Amino acid sequence: MITGKNYIGNNLIAEGNKTYKTFNPQLNIENESVFTEATSEEIDLAVKLATKAYKKFSKTSGIRKAVFLNAIADEILALDDELIQTYCSETGLPEGRAKGERGRTVGQLRTFAKLVEDGSWVEATIDTAQPDREPMARPDVRKMMMPLGPVVVFGASNFPLAYSTAGGDTAAALASGCPVIVKSHPMHAGTGELVASAIIKAAEKTGMPNGVFSNLNSSGIEVGQKLVMHPQVKAIGFTGSIRGGRALYDMAAQREEPIPVFAEMGSVNPVIMLPTALQNRGEELAKTYASSITLGTGQFCTNPGLILGIKGEELSDFVANLSKDILEIDPSCMLHPNIKGAYEVNKTTILSQDKINVTAEFTKDVQSNYAKQVVATVEGSTFLANTKLHQEVFGPFSIVVQCEDSDELEEILSKLEGQLTGTVIGDNNEVSEYSEVVSALQNRVGRIIFNGVPTGVEVCPSMVHGGPYPASTDSRFTAVGVSSIKRWVRPFSYQDWPNDLLPDELKNENPLEILRSVNRELTTSKI
Ligand code: NAP
Repeated sequence: MITGKNYIGNNLIAEGNKTYKTFNPQLNIENESVFTEATSEEIDLAVKLATKAYKKFSKTSGIRKAVFLNAIADEILALDDELIQTYCSETGLPEGRAKGERGRTVGQLRTFAKLVEDGSWVEATIDTAQPDREPMARPDVRKMMMPLGPVVVFGASNFPLAYSTAGGDTAAALASGCPVIVKSHPMHAGTGELVASAIIKAAEKTGMPNGVFSNLNSSGIEVGQKLVMHPQVKAIGFTGSIRGGRALYDMAAQREEPIPVFAEMGSVNPVIMLPTALQNRGEELAKTYASSITLGTGQFCTNPGLILGIKGEELSDFVANLSKDILEIDPSCMLHPNIKGAYEVNKTTILSQDKINVTAEFTKDVQSNYAKQVVATVEGSTFLANTKLHQEVFGPFSIVVQCEDSDELEEILSKLEGQLTGTVIGDNNEVSEYSEVVSALQNRVGRIIFNGVPTGVEVCPSMVHGGPYPASTDSRFTAVGVSSIKRWVRPFSYQDWPNDLLPDELKNENPLEILRSVNRELTTSKI
């Protein structure tokens, strides 16, 4: 049942007087539940509890953390239809998407459970002592990853489950041994509270310390700001706009003790359409891309917002087909009137620039919060000269850049801001012919896709979901897949520490039987 209160550790508390409701964009009405924003005292209490919980939780074994993570997954599934209906009523997204995202969320939790159960993720590295080494004895040095401390996770508007309360950031932080305080996204506070109740139930059932998780309501930026500035918070996870992510990053850098902010922000996800591929299968590509641009009403960070090709008949035919196909797709609902408003503003900004040619725009009447899809074209030189055209339009929008030649294409790619993904559509021989173009794209992105679409992010260990700024604030890390755990840990060395006082991961006997580097050899053997 939704109470509208904050989870401050295991307790539901709402002493504040600032309240708000979520919004059903399909029905264009407010939802019933009333949420109370967390007060300064509640924020402080949540962080204090998390700091206290860290002492125990950071030392909790991988096996016990795995039990906790699996229990969260079970409790989320047990929420059943109430969760799915709340999700749909707060986002306008269909039931199929809600169930798919729930599956992904549960899958992520179970994957992290497996990772910590195995235990090798801590990268145990041991260099044993060499007392007889000349000219100086070598000490015994042993390194492993340690959790940072309380982590604040900002729920994402466009992934109420997989990138919010118990989403990727939270799962990775809990797996690493960091307590988590979630700044719930105001657009889906009910979904957030339900998932928070599942986490708290799981924490209680599996004996985790009070404060290992808190969920704070907020309908403005103050709660998030206070959390980022709280001296006992040690790291931030964020998914959303460049403006929001950058503000939090700057704030964290100005603290007396600066802390890392791992923000995953905007991206236009450039797609290069090479001529032979367009000639051979331009019609099919147009259909594929019409679907990809409008998937989820374009509200994915991997949406293909920028398509680039070299001028010619093939590209013109592709634009004509894409423009025809995209208008055959029924418009769909956006997450919230504010997101719809931002779509209209950003779309208008781009379309009002000089020398923009709109080739498709849905014109029939649609329901209030539905987005009309748009495709526009522009010459390469115009695009190069106007950086406003490089900005993300969050929604079903894509701009096709018609370049004079491969040199211009390469120059444009090299001048783009950092991106989450880049895609190359080409035939095999063609790709080696355009190797400089491909290199230019590779330098600007975190993941490069061959003959596919950027939408759809596989959750697997080899995935990189990040990229040069502003796609993320730190291109060395990924926000998806088990490697994302590395954002919440730091390397720590023990020198000449007695064997029985070392953590199990570093003991001579290797009681956890994990894979370790011992004197530069990867092994599960004892020392
Ligand atoms: P947002 O404005 O970036 O906000 C995300 C979260 O951060 C919200 O909880 C917000 O709090 C908080 N926040 C924002 N600015 C802050 C600040 N200066 N200080 C403290 N907290 C701050 O994103 P959104 O609300 O999800 O959507 C707005 C726009 O962001 C969209 O229209 C879209 O353009 C973009 N977006 C992009 C992606 C992507 O993956 N590329 C994903 C989602 C959204 P409050 O809401 O409580 O104010």
